[in-house]
Amino acid sequence: MKKTIIFIVLLIIPLLSMSEVYVLLYHRFNDERYPTTNTTTQDLTTHIRYILENGYRIISPEEFLLYIQGEINIDKGVLFTVDDGYKSTLEGLKIFEEYEIPFLLFVPTEFIGYPDYLSWDDLRSLNENSLVTIGGHSHSHGNFLETLRINGKEKTIEIFEEDLKKMFDKFEKELNFRPDLYAYPYGYYFNGVEEVLEKHGIKAAFAQDSGPYVKEYGNYFIPREALLQDWAELEHLNYVLNRRALILGNYEPQEVKVNTEIQIKAVTKNINPKRPTVYITQEGVLPTSLDENIIYSEKKILPNTKTVNRIAIFARDENNIEYVKYWLLRLIP
Ligand SMILES: [Zn+2]
Repeated sequence: MKKTIIFIVLLIIPLLSMSEVYVLLYHRFNDERYPTTNTTTQDLTTHIRYILENGYRIISPEEFLLYIQGEINIDKGVLFTVDDGYKSTLEGLKIFEEYEIPFLLFVPTEFIGYPDYLSWDDLRSLNENSLVTIGGHSHSHGNFLETLRINGKEKTIEIFEEDLKKMFDKFEKELNFRPDLYAYPYGYYFNGVEEVLEKHGIKAAFAQDSGPYVKEYGNYFIPREALLQDWAELEHLNYVLNRRALILGNYEPQEVKVNTEIQIKAVTKNINPKRPTVYITQEGVLPTSLDENIIYSEKKILPNTKTVNRIAIFARDENNIEYVKYWLLRLIP
């Protein structure tokens, strides 16, 4: 019986692991004042060429939506996204136009028109451009994880929803449409936020956890690879485009009270994991154990209340290909 199950699992594994989409994230272009969020357009050009020359398929936001709704299958897809609506988006635009690359631009509506940001006129003209899809990036670009840690879930959902309504009002007033795609400010999400987004017509929401995306992750916690600063180097792009999405049946912790001891634990679904590693931002790589397909950290740690922690599980399959899944550890009062 066990042999039969293993045989079936081996048959299913290649099917499950064929449909990664790599969502790339940019912020500023050619703006050396802010190195941590900057990418040169020379690097952007190199990324586009590498992707086109290595068998990846650059997809539009429309195709991405069809993919997550299960209407089409996409293998080795790449979706370009640009956050924050800085003026330098127009520098990136020149390259996207040169190569006819569709991209998603996420804007925090409160900042549009501020110095260094695009104006509403810029956005109206971008909205006319067939390569550009504009999505929402909140109104205030607030830190909702800080709100969650201080005020708890109920209050944070209320504040989040108010902010979302302001964002929609601005979109309708200035651009005459309601976006159906959203990117969390700082990539910070929490449980319950997806219901609010769905209620208001958001079909997909993007985070900033690294790693490839597969539709098994759902529509509201879509990871993205930030290609900024040192991570804009081709070596890093090559690395991230060659890893695969680790699908976890269960993974914890996700939301914990401040000053609680934790143990990181995850059950893999799409591979029989080899050489697993558990990582958390504040500690780095943790001593990791494996029990069949359960990966767990040996050490119990105390979350630092001032740090936003990302947890990651890395593992390899029989062919030594790396699989990865990141998530945010959210603190609640
Ligand atoms: Zn942002």
